[in-house]
Parts: sequence; C-alpha cells; structure tokens
Amino acid sequence: MQKDRMITGITPSGSMSLGNYLGVVKNLIEYQDQYDLFVFVANLHAITIPQDPTMLKAKTKEMTALYIACGLDPEKMTLFLQSDVVEHSQLGWILTTQSTMGELSRMTQFKDKSAKQGESENISIPTGLFTYPCLMAADILLYDPKYVPVGVDQKQHLELSRDIAIRMNNKYGEMHIVPEPILTKGNIKIMDLQDPTKKMSKSSNNPKAVIKMLDTPAEITNKIKSAITDSENLIKYDPVNKPGVSNLMNIYAIIKNFSIDDCHKRWAGKNYKDLKDDVTEALLELIIPIHEKYNEIIKGDYLKDVLENGALKAKKIAIKKVNKVQNKLGINWYRK
Ligand code: ATP
Ligand code: MG
Repeated sequence: MQKDRMITGITPSGSMSLGNYLGVVKNLIEYQDQYDLFVFVANLHAITIPQDPTMLKAKTKEMTALYIACGLDPEKMTLFLQSDVVEHSQLGWILTTQSTMGELSRMTQFKDKSAKQGESENISIPTGLFTYPCLMAADILLYDPKYVPVGVDQKQHLELSRDIAIRMNNKYGEMHIVPEPILTKGNIKIMDLQDPTKKMSKSSNNPKAVIKMLDTPAEITNKIKSAITDSENLIKYDPVNKPGVSNLMNIYAIIKNFSIDDCHKRWAGKNYKDLKDDVTEALLELIIPIHEKYNEIIKGDYLKDVLENGALKAKKIAIKKVNKVQNKLGINWYRK
C-alpha cells in the first residue's frame, strides 16, 4: 500500500536546539516508518537573516549530519538540501504573486524576527524575511503531501500555505492537495532557559538560553545549572506562574516519557538542585549516543551521497508539480 506523504524542513540558522529535537525531530524518527517522509535542510530560509557564508556551510552540513545522528535513516526516507531542488524557488516566486501584503504582514514570526534585527524602520529588513512564508508554502505544496508536522510556532505559516492552496485551486482549477498539520504530540514547546516566557530558538542571541544538540556535557551541565527558576523552591508544574521550573520538568518528562504526575511524585519534597541534576543526567544520556553517531558520519563522502540521492528523488516530483502549476496559470503553453 502506498504510504501517505509527509514533508518538513529545518533551517540551518544555527545548531539544532533541544526544542527542535524534542518538538519535531524526535517524532520524525517514528514518522519515517509510517509515512513517505521527505525532510529538507532549509538553507534558502537561513539567508532571510544575514549569514556568514563559511558558518552557513558548516551549519548546513552539521544539520544534515545531526538529522541522521538523531535517527533519521536515508534508506527509509528522503533527505535533501532545499537549494538542490531549484523548483522550490520557482514555485516560491509564483506563490508570492498569489498571496497578499496583508496576509504576510500578519505573520507573528515576521514581527518577532524583524524586531530582533533591531530596526524600527523597515528599511534594513531583508525582503525575504517578509516573503519567507511563500517559500515555505512552496516547500510544502511542491510535494503534495497529506501531512506536515509542525510545532505550535509554525502553525500560522501552515495556515497560510493552506489558504494559498485553496485559493489557487478555486481560481485556476485543482492543482494542490491541501495539507493537514500534524501538531507535535502534546504540543511540545520547549522554553528559553534564561527567559522561560519565550520559546527556545536556535538563533537566539544568548547562548546560555538554548541547549544545542552538539553542546558538550560540560556546557549542558552549566546551562542547566544557570537556568532561571524562581525563589519559591517548590517543584510544581505551573507554566504560567512557574515557567522556568515547569520547563525543566517538561524537558525531563518528554525525554523520559514521564507524565507530569510521575514528575510530581519523583520530586516531592526535593529542591531545585535535585531537579536540575536529574534534568542534566537525562540530557547527557540523550546526547552522548547522538554525538558518537555524528562523529562517525561527518567524515568522508557519506553525507554528500545522501543529499545527492535525496535531491534526485525530490526533483522528480518537484519538476512535475511546477510544470502543472505553470500550465494552470498559463505560464507554459508548450510543455505538458
Ligand atoms: P529560528 O530561531 O531560526 O527560527 P527555531 O529554533 O525556531 O529557529 P525553526 O527552524 O524555525 O527552529 O523550526 C524547526 C522546527 O522546530 C519547527 O517545526 C518548529 O515548530 C520547531 N521548534 C522550534 N523551536 C521549538 C521549541 N522551542 N519547542 C518545540 N518545537 C520547536
Ligand atoms: Mg523558528
């Protein structure tokens, strides 16, 4: 039986964070057995904010290797680099013509990220940061997937992709499958260790705020030690009033497959140091085998071969889809 297709990507705008791993990557390991899974490293999205070219190359390679080290198996799924399939840009451009300034202005991530660039005026904000949801819609619609796994922070972008798909289907005739979101199990949102009211982001300016999957054991230990809690010294899950403590409990619970009840029992009568020691231990147990696998596959031509094969598979589907869209819109007249 043909498996349903699923697609997702991650931007190599920094090293993979614990939030990315627990929120999305971990689930992909299960999805690769259930679905016809396509995963891409979104290097074209990375350049929506300024990047140092040498760093970008390194981060792109690192992200590819980490996906595999975390458990994605290129024998079971398709892993590729977004820029290797140029049809992403082609469809992305077409979709900028099918969306409106109003829609894109409402994207909260644009508001957050443009604010982060420190500019009150729009003059220095790259145009790509504004139009990026159209490229993201293209990344998805290019493959006609049934499902797109998303974290809560990406839900709005997926809504836009759906809106564009429906609009084009109505206007030009059926061409897109309207994708369904699959929200991360339990709506996982890992919070920033220094400001637990905002989500952990790999592109954060504060290194102490984010656990990176390639952090050394010593770095992880220190980051958890300095994670913000509160002065109450009471271990209780209460994300509104105790966001720091709740975030640490949540990290532990997800890694260990504990319920919040199990957590309350485990730390009844214990203090924040006990909690932090446990979280550190769970994190080290998680990352050490990932580091071992990473160090093994980063050498030689293995990753390049994986990406080349992945791009070939992705391109076959993408070329057909772009032709179809171009035909429907009247861009092509001689190619079927
Ligand atoms: P950036 O700061 O560059 O936006 P990011 O950490 O938000 O980085 P993305 O590349 O935007 O990562 O997102 C990759 C995937 O990880 C998305 O599906 C997103 O929903 C998920 N994700 C990102 N941060 C978290 C988090 N803190 N908790 C759970 N899931 C997350
Ligand atoms: Mg993000």
